[in-house]
Order: sequence, then C-alpha cells, then structure tokens
Amino acid sequence: MRGGRRCWDRGSGHAPASLVSLEQTYEWLLDSPLMDEVAQILAADVLDEADQAVETTLRPRSLGEYVGQPEVKTNLGVLLAAANQRGEAADHVLLYGPPGLGKTTLATIIARELDANIRYTSGPAVERAGDLAAILTSLDERDVLFIDEIHRLNHAVEEILYPAMEDFALDVMIGKGPSARSLRLTLTPFTIVGATTRAGRLSGPLRDRFGATYRLDFYAEEELAEIVRRSAGILEIPIGPEAAREIARRGRGTPRIVNRLLKRVRDHAQVHGNGAVDLAAVHEAMRALDVDEEGLDSSDRRVLVAILTKFGGGPVGVNAVAAVLAEEVETIEDVIEPFLLRLGFLDRTPQGRIVTDAGRDHLRRQGIDVPPAGSRRGIADVVPLWDDGDGAGDGGLADEPITTG
Ligand code: ADP
Repeated sequence: MRGGRRCWDRGSGHAPASLVSLEQTYEWLLDSPLMDEVAQILAADVLDEADQAVETTLRPRSLGEYVGQPEVKTNLGVLLAAANQRGEAADHVLLYGPPGLGKTTLATIIARELDANIRYTSGPAVERAGDLAAILTSLDERDVLFIDEIHRLNHAVEEILYPAMEDFALDVMIGKGPSARSLRLTLTPFTIVGATTRAGRLSGPLRDRFGATYRLDFYAEEELAEIVRRSAGILEIPIGPEAAREIARRGRGTPRIVNRLLKRVRDHAQVHGNGAVDLAAVHEAMRALDVDEEGLDSSDRRVLVAILTKFGGGPVGVNAVAAVLAEEVETIEDVIEPFLLRLGFLDRTPQGRIVTDAGRDHLRRQGIDVPPAGSRRGIADVVPLWDDGDGAGDGGLADEPITTG
C-alpha cells in the first residue's frame, strides 16, 4: 500500500475522485506487514532503546505534571498523602488500561511522591519463584516494586506474591522430599504497583490483594494537545497551538503515540520543509506516515477491511479475524481494538465483532468502496443449512457459493 500504491488521500480530508473496491484494498493492506515503521509508531507498545530514552525525559515527575486522568490523580493523591502521613508503605496499586496511557509513569510518580526507590520488572521477566523472592528480599522499607504485564506472571510466582502482598511474608521451602519444611521470612513493608492491559486476565486472588485499582482511559484531545505542547517544550520543538491540536487529534487518545508523532513531524519538517512544525508540516508528515485524520493506520484498516471482506462486516470472533490476518489475537485485542471500539468503528457483541456504520463511513471517506450494512453477505444473509420451503430463506443468495473466508 505504501510506495505509490496508496489508494486514498488522507491528508486533505476530501473524498478521492474514485473509490477503490473493498477487495482491492484488502489485497493491498494484506501486503503491508503490520509491524512496519508506521505500525511501530502507532502500536503504542513497541519500544526500542532510543524511544525509551526519550520517554524517560518526557515522563511527568509529579501528579501535578501528569496531564489528564483527574479521578485517578485525585484518588491516588489521597492514598499517597495518607501513607505519607502515617509513614507507612502505600497500599498496593493496580493500574490497568491500554498500552501507552501512562501506567509506568504513574508508578514512577508514586515512588517519587513516597520519596522511595522503585524497581521495575514484568510478568514475563520473572520466570521462577526464586527470582521474585530475590527481588522482594532486596526491597527497602516503603520501596515500590513495579510489575508490568502482571497478568503474565506464572502461577508458581503468583503464589509467592500472595503472602508477600498480604502479610509481607515469604514462605520458602527448605530441603526436599519428606524432610522438606517451610520457613516464613518477614519482609519489610513495600508497595507493589501492578500494570496490566487486561484486568480480566488477573486471577481473583491476585486482584483482591490490591488495595486500590485504577483504570486509565484514553485521553481527550485537549489533554493530548497539552501533552504535545509540554513534550515540545522539553524537546525544544517550536510548535503552534493548531499543529499541536492536529497531532493530538491523530494520536489515538494515547500520550506515547502523540509523543512519537511529534518527533516524526519534527523530523519530517526538518528534512522536507523549512523546519517549522506547523499545520502544513503535520498534514504532510501524516500523509507520509499513512495516518488518517482519526489516527488510524494500516493495521486498523486491515482489521476493519478484513471483517468487511471476509466476514460480511461481522459478527465474527476475534480468533477468526486474527487467523485471516495471520496476527496474534492479543495484538488485535490489546493494541488495535480498544481504539476502534472507542471511536465506535467496531462493536463487540456476544456474537462477535461488527464493523459499525461509523466504521463504514470512515473507510468510505478514505476512498474505499464500502457497501452499506446488510447489502453483503452478513450473518443475517448467510444461506441457511435448511430451506423453509418457500425459497425465501436463502436471502436471494442461493447461487452464490458459501465461503467462510
Ligand atoms: P504505559 O506504561 O501505560 O504503557 P507509559 O507510562 O510508559 O505508558 O507512558 C508512555 C509515555 O507517555 C511516557 O513516557 C510519558 O512521556 C507519556 N505520558 C503518559 N501519560 C502521561 C500524562 N498523563 N501526561 C504527560 N505525559 C504522559
């Protein structure tokens, strides 16, 4: 789809002169690998070292600097002030929400506000119970242990965590076989900050051990514009309010993405323009990056177009969508779907995912010839396995071969 095969003109916002068929678009989109450069910018969870270094500079350092999420900030502020007044470790905190919304940042802020150290680890990184025991015994009083992707902790490790979180105790087995006995070690009080993209995947006992659970939501456009202006200030990028708002509009409600877009627009303005980060530079860079006016990229369009071409617009299970796109179910559920749902382009029903009318309209605005809902073979029109005798049960599609994608 890149390299001259672009079929629609996103930057101008005008409908292109001729529409491209859904099938043709699907072919083009399938050609573009998901994890290409653009997808990396928009994926919100793929980080290389350079990215990480910039993120650290851009991270707000206090609740005051943290933009948006007012409810979380208020509640967390009370929790931390109370812990500080008592001179105790704060309650364990669980943060959940899509990638890039500021969970790690909040964990860092929690440690700072408690005037404590923070250790970072993640569910997949802690392979054995002994690894976690080593980390826990090395914590000082009131330290914060941040566990990213906590839903991916394995069961044996999780079991160690229960008494550690509840009683600050570590049960270790000494010896093997009949002479084995359990020894309880006391740990100094600490705070676990767990982060997950999917709270539903956490086991009940683990979830119950968190004193506070906060859900981070996508950011509003004005909040993202503020983040863009703040980041531009730190990175010394001169940017006007209009350009900041335009980047915010295409940032998928996600601070990590607006920060990356800002850097790419700056690069683009420097190489192709006069260096000024203005509205024209933003439009130009977005066109080059293939990011449309709602912030969708080729991976999002791939999901929508696949559901339309292969499953008549849905309803379809996420496993089937992942299978036709040769994609991980988790990538679709955690990275792509949340924002499509939020925009109302996709709907999640008990029967499966459905591309909504708004989703169809959006693709049409991108120059794709999308038929209205119900005009293609959707679930309502699928040829029934039996005929009710009057010949009408086939929805008029009796001659069409049944394919399942
Ligand atoms: P997560 O852990 O949820 O994936 P991060 O905490 O790593 O997300 O946030 C990604 C980047 O977005 C951070 O480096 C930070 O610069 C920026 N960011 C996140 N939340 C905010 C916020 N509320 N205000 C300003 N910048 C933010």
